[in-house]
Amino acid sequence: MTPVPVHLVDHPLVHDALITLRDKSTPPEAFRRAATRISVLLAAEALQTVKTTDVTVDTPLGPAPGRMLGRDVVVVPVLRAGLGMLDAVLELVPDARVGHIGLQRDEMTAVASQYYSKLPARLDQSDVLMIDPMLATGGSAVAALDLLERAGALSIRMICIVAAPEGVALVEKHHPQVDIYTPVVDRELNAHKYIVPGLGDFGDRLYGTI
Ligand code: URA
Repeated sequence: MTPVPVHLVDHPLVHDALITLRDKSTPPEAFRRAATRISVLLAAEALQTVKTTDVTVDTPLGPAPGRMLGRDVVVVPVLRAGLGMLDAVLELVPDARVGHIGLQRDEMTAVASQYYSKLPARLDQSDVLMIDPMLATGGSAVAALDLLERAGALSIRMICIVAAPEGVALVEKHHPQVDIYTPVVDRELNAHKYIVPGLGDFGDRLYGTI
């Protein structure tokens, strides 16, 4: 399958964190730190195009012109793995409102079903950043994006840490207006719908539930 257009974030620090995440000998504590590092960088890249408003503040020495975020940002982790990226994004955008979407993947069929959703109001006036580290089949990403659009979201970006060609293609097919930011599109999915070479089960490695 040919990969479709996606924003590849090609920063040395992103790749440095990614190789730590991929390494099977990385313990959960170091895995969590690398997940935070890479999430900050991916979120900064994804939010580079948000609108700003011109402002002037008074420094102790006089007025200084500058810019501040001009629109509300809503961050939506897809549970549970997306939670591993949330604190990093909130460091960058402390005022962001947070929605949660809980999707469970059937281990046999890899089909995603929703078990939880709580989203902030006025999504139509917000820049939504969906965070889901592994874009594998794309099934859960598309289900989460469907939900966000039904809730009124008009401007959606998504960040992931590893993507598969199948997942990128499915998101592009169902949600072509959504910008995807990822450092890498890996080779393929295996028979269990895990990304190869990938990094294994992100949630299990993050929380030590292997
Ligand atoms: N979810 C993961 O955590 N890893 C994969 O490779 C695919 C989906």
